[in-house]
Amino acid sequence: MSGKYDAIVVGSGSNGIAAAIRLQKKGLKTAIFEQAATPGGATRTMELTMPGFKHDVGSAILPLGLASPFFRDLPLDNFGLEWIFPEIAYAHPFDDGTAFGCYKDIEKTAAQLGEDEAAYLKLFRPLLNNWDKLNSDLLGPLGIPEHPIPFLKFGLKAMPSAQMLANHYFKNDKTKAFFYGSAAHSTLPLTNIASASFGLVLTTSAHKYNWPFPKGGAGNFTKALLDYYKSLGGEIFLSQYIRDIRDLPNAYAYLFDLTPKQLLKIKGLNFNLLYRKRMEAYKYGAGVFKMDWALKEPIPFTNEKCRKAATIHLGFTKEEIENSEKEIHQKNMTSTPYVLVAQHSPFDPTRAPEGHHTAWAYIHVPNGSTEDYTKIVEDQIERAAPGFKETILARSTLNTSDLQQFNPNLIGGDINGGKQDITQLFTRPIAKLSPYATPDPRVYICSSSTPPGGGVHGMCGYHAAEKALKDHFRDLS
Ligand SMILES: Cc1cc2nc3c(=O)[nH]c(=O)nc-3n(C[C@H](O)[C@H](O)[C@H](O)COP(=O)(O)OP(=O)(O)OC[C@H]3O[C@@H](n4cnc5c(N)ncnc54)[C@H](O)[C@@H]3O)c2cc1C
Repeated sequence: MSGKYDAIVVGSGSNGIAAAIRLQKKGLKTAIFEQAATPGGATRTMELTMPGFKHDVGSAILPLGLASPFFRDLPLDNFGLEWIFPEIAYAHPFDDGTAFGCYKDIEKTAAQLGEDEAAYLKLFRPLLNNWDKLNSDLLGPLGIPEHPIPFLKFGLKAMPSAQMLANHYFKNDKTKAFFYGSAAHSTLPLTNIASASFGLVLTTSAHKYNWPFPKGGAGNFTKALLDYYKSLGGEIFLSQYIRDIRDLPNAYAYLFDLTPKQLLKIKGLNFNLLYRKRMEAYKYGAGVFKMDWALKEPIPFTNEKCRKAATIHLGFTKEEIENSEKEIHQKNMTSTPYVLVAQHSPFDPTRAPEGHHTAWAYIHVPNGSTEDYTKIVEDQIERAAPGFKETILARSTLNTSDLQQFNPNLIGGDINGGKQDITQLFTRPIAKLSPYATPDPRVYICSSSTPPGGGVHGMCGYHAAEKALKDHFRDLS
């Protein structure tokens, strides 16, 4: 550990590993220091309920892992990564037993929507056709876009709230609820400016790539990344909680996969008062209450489309999703929250002992809430899948405090490294020319608290590494 490194990364989340790979690939000598005994941050798989049942503690469905311009070019399949593609990317059931499914096939998806069929195609087809141009501009910091026209056209659709966009395009309340299901991944009230952008990006990624997940668990994505990194000569040191930069070996650049609150606690950093003040004003978003189940059989969804999808958005009506996402920001909960459910085992038998199944879910809750929301989560699932509760063998619950204990980046249960509202979407953690650089010329931020924010895409790490290369290793950048 006392060796000399060119660059050191603190934290082994997907962004930390992405940064380390980028630098190591350029020929630098790098190392990762991780506080936990297992690497991966919010991308880890564990037996949370019973032996043999593999649960994704954090991220579970990784469309951006596949879409990421950086990860896409890495030979991760040579390092054991196998993607599983469910027949339907995500499904949205309704109380009358019907459901909409988001297929990779955009026409098949639109055809379910009746009078909104043409509007759906009008909204999403241009985004899908231009995805390859939009992808790198969307998954990067604010700057001059590489493809200004498609980016501007995207911006016109993405800037309104999800509510405004849905009301503008769609007539049917079910179609609006279907769109809300993916827009609500923003963890913002759906009346917030730019909340539409999340629904647009995530739905377009479903039509481009489907919503896949790694065979055996999201932890296998981390494993493939790390095995590749080690094959390049990279080193990782686990169980190393970094509190002072002076405890780390010498290096030209230090990249922190941490959120502002944590970074400000690291001793020995040369941050001026103004930067500290601005970082202290960084906002964290709502938290989540996370559940995992070991099941006797798959979730008995009434509608077949829900049985064919790995992701199910439970927010039965447009009003229910609107209300639940509004209330959590006023520190309240509704009894019918929007629930994000993932089921892997019907498509990936390696997740549970033979004949058994797993399920994963979370709801958005007020930041820092330590309430137990088990009943309302299970009641919502039961609504779409009567008999669900009888299939339960064991359950795990993690409130916001448990989540932060599992991974200190999950401040108050915020899974996106900070609120993703318009003031922090592209200009996180603070508005400056390069959000990855800090006033300390050795220190960079590479976590999801930088653009493009939450999700397993590694692009925060990639862009931070690019900045460090430019500043310290210009010949290599
Ligand atoms: C419940 C949940 C569900 C999610 N679902 C999805 C999903 O389905 N799809 C998706 O794309 N995204 C999902 N996400 C979001 C996604 O996981 C995160 O956006 C992503 O993991 C962020 O990666 P990161 O590298 O920025 O940070 P993290 O993954 O949080 O990694 C940070 C690392 O830094 C380490 N660390 C912190 N402090 C120190 C210190 N002082 N010293 C050393 N190490 C330190 C931590 O232990 C951790 O390993 C989910 C997250 C959660 C929690």
